[in-house]
Amino acid sequence: MNGKWDARIRRAGELAQAHPFASEGLRFYQRLAQFQKFLYGSFETDCGQATRPCAPGALRDEFDPFVLLPRFPSLLGLVEASAPSILAQSARALQNEGAKRWQAMLEKFWWDGNESAAGAAGAETVISWIFLQPYAEYLADHIERPAPSGTPSVCPLCGGKPQVAAFRPEGDGAKRSLICALCSTEWDYRRIVCPSCGEEDVHKLAVYSAAEFKHVRVDACDSCRSYLKTVDLTKNGLAVPVVDELAMIPLDLWAAEHGYAKLQTNLLGI
Ligand SMILES: [Zn+2]
Ligand SMILES: [Zn+2]
Repeated sequence: MNGKWDARIRRAGELAQAHPFASEGLRFYQRLAQFQKFLYGSFETDCGQATRPCAPGALRDEFDPFVLLPRFPSLLGLVEASAPSILAQSARALQNEGAKRWQAMLEKFWWDGNESAAGAAGAETVISWIFLQPYAEYLADHIERPAPSGTPSVCPLCGGKPQVAAFRPEGDGAKRSLICALCSTEWDYRRIVCPSCGEEDVHKLAVYSAAEFKHVRVDACDSCRSYLKTVDLTKNGLAVPVVDELAMIPLDLWAAEHGYAKLQTNLLGI
């Protein structure tokens, strides 16, 4: 399963070269993903690779502080050394606190989610998110997937919000899926419906794309004013949705200018 981290790291490098406006964020993401790959591998080594049963939506019940806390200081060191200043300051302050405080912070994020990822107050949220994402992904990859039922608008394994949508080739066309911001599970979703409010009226669902990024578009909803990006793998098979999402900053600027709020802020705070 480790190959997916390499694909993300490689794709971030390609996009950083192609899109200088996003290169700083993508280079930072590369370092994070390198660390996340290492963490993910260490969970596989220490917690095993067997597949376990898990009730639908119950992935978050698996939180294990004994596995997590000894690994946390190395993330703080990485963030202090290579993150933008707000995150680095927060990491430095956290290094002086103890495991009890870290556990409280990580558990809060684990249960409350990444609602407040933007702005200075969100620094601890982002640090928790960077750290817990590979753990959630490890858990998701090693539990028996529940049979799909309906098309839920949140992750069927952990209840997280979608970070990005994807179109993947199916027959002559494309099927749409959503990708979880926490555990990276991908699940099928209907093409013409807003994942935030369930709006199905095509006249209220706006699509915006820019000539320079043909394979990524904004799907916005005029009922709830939310949006997310969709990465179209039928147009670019080399894309990695969670990474291409980070790179296409001009689409986020367009959405913000038109009064749409992102369904789920990404790890770079965008
Ligand atoms: Zn999930
Ligand atoms: Zn909506």
